[in-house]
Order: sequence, then C-alpha cells, then structure tokens
Amino acid sequence: MAIIDISGFAPNSITDGPGLRFTVFCQGCIHNCPGCHNPETHPFGTGEKYRVEDIYKMIKKDPLVKGVTFSGGEPFCQREAFCRLAQLLKADGYEIAAYTGFVFEDLVKDKSDAKYKLLEYLDILVDGPFILARRSLEAGFRGSLNQRVINVPASLEKGEAVLEKSARWRTL
Ligand code: SF4
Repeated sequence: MAIIDISGFAPNSITDGPGLRFTVFCQGCIHNCPGCHNPETHPFGTGEKYRVEDIYKMIKKDPLVKGVTFSGGEPFCQREAFCRLAQLLKADGYEIAAYTGFVFEDLVKDKSDAKYKLLEYLDILVDGPFILARRSLEAGFRGSLNQRVINVPASLEKGEAVLEKSARWRTL
C-alpha cells in the first residue's frame, strides 16, 4: 500500500499551474532553499500519512478539476508513492505537473531510479531550487526566474530539457 506523507492539500488551486487544479503538498524536503515559502514542510516524517488511493478519491470528487500538481516539500523524495498516484491520475486523463528543487538533468541521470519513472507520468515539471535573489513578480507559475517550466514528454524524447511553449503555462 503506497503512503504519502502530506503537509497539506489545495483542492481548488489556481496558483500552481493553469486552470483549476488539485495540489498535493508533501512533507519533507532536502533542499533548504533560503527564503523558501514553506519551511514547515522541510522536516521528514512529520506530516499526515495518506493512502494514495484516498488522495485519488479526494481528487476525483470535483469534476471541475482537470489538473493535479505535486508540490512540497520535495515530491521526488517520495517518488515511489507519487508514481502510484500519477499512474492512477494519468489513466483518467488529468494533466499532471510537479514542482521540484532538483534540476531535470539530475532526475534523468539514472533511468532505473523511480525519479525517472515519475517523470514518465508527468506533463510538466517546474524544476530547480528557489533562489531568493531571482524572485520576480513576473515569474508566473515559478517561484524564481532560474526555474524552468519543462514539457516532460518532449524532454524525455529529446534527451534534454525542452521548455513548455503553450500559452497556458507561459510565464515570461
Ligand atoms: S525545494 Fe521547494 S520546498 Fe524545498 S526548500 Fe526549496 S523552495 Fe522550499
């Protein structure tokens, strides 16, 4: 049974990607970015434990929600359980996005790791640490300008990060 350690949910988010989305905030992060908006999500093991199937049912309750965003904390630190959730959501046609403090190039280094498997379920990845000096009001769905909004399927096919070009996700 897959369990995710959760710091919170935003069932009707309009700030973690385009459209009405369900955002899953996990507990635990290794990056310690100075100026992080969610420092309470950094300690591991201190959130509420939820079965993936129960989170999936919560998301399914609202037919207006078409997209799901994984955030944190660091979703790739709980990658096996997020893979299971993403697998369920993908089968139902949700657009799946994830925020991460890792950069795309690190996540694709080892194709046998579940980090890579999780990428295979994602449509969009917003990558890289939050850098306070590069925070901008024009960063859109990003926290700071160093972060990239990446089209994951195109990137995996090409073998390098491909920026998302659609107007829905466009930031600058
Ligand atoms: S990766 Fe995100 S949650 Fe983690 S420290 Fe950086 S900004 Fe905060």
